[in-house]
Amino acid sequence: MSEQAPETGAAPAEQPREERRARPGGNGVILEVADIHTYYGSIHALKGITLEVREGEIVTLIGANGAGKSTTLRSINGLNHPRRGAIRFQGKDITNEAPHRIVGMGVAQSPEGRKLFPRMSVLENLEMGAFQRTDRGGVREDLDRVYGLFPRLNERKSQKAGTLSGGEQQMVAMGRALMARPKLLMLDEPSMGLAPIFVERIFDIVREINKQGTPILLVEQNALMALDVASRGYVMETGHIALTDDAKVLARNEQVRKTYLGEE
Ligand code: ATP
Repeated sequence: MSEQAPETGAAPAEQPREERRARPGGNGVILEVADIHTYYGSIHALKGITLEVREGEIVTLIGANGAGKSTTLRSINGLNHPRRGAIRFQGKDITNEAPHRIVGMGVAQSPEGRKLFPRMSVLENLEMGAFQRTDRGGVREDLDRVYGLFPRLNERKSQKAGTLSGGEQQMVAMGRALMARPKLLMLDEPSMGLAPIFVERIFDIVREINKQGTPILLVEQNALMALDVASRGYVMETGHIALTDDAKVLARNEQVRKTYLGEE
């Protein structure tokens, strides 16, 4: 299959623009997580998580601290393989695949806490996102796309990432993930610790990235914003999925409003 990464995990050379769009498995499903159980040693963190992301969607995973949202992303990106269950990306089993191979297949993540290289410049951080790619023209095109989405990063491309504001650092983390030309973008808490003005801006950009053709799996504690931007949502509680529905329906759900939106 031409869209699959070769053994090195590098992306195929000079993909045409439409290749950015994810190629779904059956029923438009790009990512399928089927009843996974993931552990940290003897701690049973995920107790049978089932979810899917389809072409064109923004899907959000919300829930309290420690519910297992980040562990779900770590299971998908290969950092913590589930002991039971299966994960398929574009119809291919990736349950036990190595993280770099999963990135090479088109799954990129902006991690919780950004995890930038603080002493490297903005540009160098962005280039790290494309380190597996050999298509220089495509990388240049994607850098222009990232600067188009985040003009501030273009202005600050020579500045050390560690000297940026929290919101700007979040932009670098998202830009770095986009430099892998992902077919699925996973965002872990993009709004964490940001001033409200930056939160709005980040969610606008999440919408824009999705409009440009990238499906998104969004982990958020800011349930209100997440359900506003998403098409569907999953509510996690202590290692399992408590509720799932259209985002608009979840946003009106009494239990969700009480627990996650702070209503009486
Ligand atoms: P948060 O928003 O606080 O990151 P979360 O929903 O992402 O919460 P996880 O970080 O996935 O939750 O944690 C799920 C469970 O796994 C929690 O009980 C947590 O204590 C446990 N856990 C997470 N990381 C580790 C680790 N490295 N070692 C042991 N237990 C862990």
